[in-house]
Amino acid sequence: MKIFNTRNQLREYLDELSPIGQTIGFVPTMGALHEGHLSLLARSRGQTDVTVCSIFVNPTQFNDPKDLEKYPRPIASDTEKLEQACCDILFHPEVGEMYAGNEHWHLDIGELEHLLEGKFRPGHYQGVTQVVYKLFDIVKPDLAFFGQKDYQQFLVIQRMVDMLDLPVKLVMCPILREPDGLAMSSRNIHLSAKDRQHALVLSKTLDWLKNNFDRNRIAALQEECFDRINAEPGVHAEYFEITDGTDLHPANSKTQNIVALVAARVGNTRLIDNVILRSRAIVHGS
Ligand code: AMP
Repeated sequence: MKIFNTRNQLREYLDELSPIGQTIGFVPTMGALHEGHLSLLARSRGQTDVTVCSIFVNPTQFNDPKDLEKYPRPIASDTEKLEQACCDILFHPEVGEMYAGNEHWHLDIGELEHLLEGKFRPGHYQGVTQVVYKLFDIVKPDLAFFGQKDYQQFLVIQRMVDMLDLPVKLVMCPILREPDGLAMSSRNIHLSAKDRQHALVLSKTLDWLKNNFDRNRIAALQEECFDRINAEPGVHAEYFEITDGTDLHPANSKTQNIVALVAARVGNTRLIDNVILRSRAIVHGS
């Protein structure tokens, strides 16, 4: 695996590949890699010639400085995992390589960035679009792979790609879970043993909803799920919403793509999860 820390070196290397028609797959991450990240990588390897993975803990998407500070950065073991997963290229820049100084530019993608996660993490998606725009500009991927785990993030990035007419196709990959159902996340290592047990209420509630979903009882089901999560000791639900999966507006009995999304604090750790309840269009990339 080639490792690059500067955009110029990475670009030089990639420029040599494009004339020979190699397609580029891109998996952006913040590191602390788990099987979920590696599933994106496997997908990219299956669909493209060269896979680039980036590890960059992007400061502009953190609205809580403590969260940024304690975000895990196990770069040695991440590098080994990528080697074992046969990743072709790791891009691991320093903050100064990605941001010239205090950058205040912001892409206005409309209300999508202010709903759900956006309400609880103001400015989060401005940071996400900033960094993903920069990374796309450096890597120039044909396909970019993102997890359904961050469902709203996928919609936000797709909106950016559509608005700017960027020449990249986004692929949404399914959520990988621990055997007991907990969605894999780099933040799970912060959970105490007790919190780890309590955190299961998220996936269990989403599962219950999937099995009991009735499009004529959306408001009641949403309230019931919110209450179930809040009833779990040590767990505080920030939102539980059953939405139209295309714009995250509240779903109704006629909505075709329906996604339930949840965010909750479990002890000091903030977790998100979701489930696709109805999907008419193809949501997962081919
Ligand atoms: P992160 O490092 O948390 O920014 O995540 C990098 C990418 O991995 C994003 O596209 C996430 O949606 C995806 N991802 C995170 N957790 C999972 C998971 N449990 N299953 C599948 N993909 C995931």
